[in-house]
Amino acid sequence: MTKLRSWLLLSVLLMLLGCATVPITGRSQLSIIKNSELIPMSFQQYQEILKTNELSENKNKIALIKKVGFKIQKAVEAYLKKEGQSEVLDDFKWEFNLIEDKTVNAWCMPGGKVAFYSGILPVCQGEQGVAVVMGHEIAHAIANHGRERMSQGMITNGLLASLSLATQNQSALTRDILLQSLGVGTQMGILKFSRKHEGEADRMGLVFMAIAGYNPEAAPKFWKRMAEISNGPEVPEWVSTHPSNERRIEDIKKHLPEALAYYEKK
Ligand SMILES: [Zn+2]
Repeated sequence: MTKLRSWLLLSVLLMLLGCATVPITGRSQLSIIKNSELIPMSFQQYQEILKTNELSENKNKIALIKKVGFKIQKAVEAYLKKEGQSEVLDDFKWEFNLIEDKTVNAWCMPGGKVAFYSGILPVCQGEQGVAVVMGHEIAHAIANHGRERMSQGMITNGLLASLSLATQNQSALTRDILLQSLGVGTQMGILKFSRKHEGEADRMGLVFMAIAGYNPEAAPKFWKRMAEISNGPEVPEWVSTHPSNERRIEDIKKHLPEALAYYEKK
C-alpha cells in the first residue's frame, strides 16, 4: 500500500472512530482526543496565562465580565440540559477573568476558562456587547473547535502513534499544537479560526446570549464596530483571527430569527 493510501485509510478510520456532534448546528466533527485529556492541559495553560499577565483591578469591569459570563454559562447549561446534551459540559470548571491589556482580545479555552482583555471593552460598549463576545467565545468551547483543530493538527503532525504524549507529559510540540488549536498563542503565529468555525460560533453565540436574556440584535452592531477597527492602521490580534466583514454580518443577520425565538420566549 502506498503511503498516501494508508494515510487516507487511517484518516477514514479515525473519522469513523473519533467523531462528535456539535450542539445547535448538528455538524459532525473529528475528535480523536477526549475532553477528559484535553481539558486538564487547557486548565494548566490557563493558569500559566493568568500568572504571566496582569489581571485587572477595576472592580466594575471585573463584575461586568463575571456577571455576563455567569448568565451565559447558565444559558448554556439550560440549553444543553433541555437537549439531553449535558455531557458536553463534563469536566468544565467555568472561570471568567479580565486581563489588563490594550489588546482587543477575548477567548474561552476548553473547559470554560474565559479571558477578556480590557482592550476589547471599548468596542463592546457595555453589557450587550460583552454578551456578544462572551456568547461567541463560549460557543467555540461548547462546539469543541479547539479539540477539532487539535485532532486535525495531530493527524497532520503524525502524532497519532504517540497520542499518550497528550496525557503523560506535555511535550513542547503537543503544547504548541494545543495553543495553536485554541488560538491563544501569540509567539508561534496565530492560526486563523476557519470561516466554518467562526460561522458556527456566531450562530451558537446568538442563541446562548438570547437564552441569557440579551437581545441578539446587538451582534451585527458589534461586528460592524469591529469592521471599523479592522480598517484602522493597527489590526489587533483578535481582529486578525476574527475578521469582520459584510459576509459575516449578513450571515449573523440570517441566523437572528432562530435566536430571537429564544429571546422572545423570555
Ligand atoms: Zn471566533
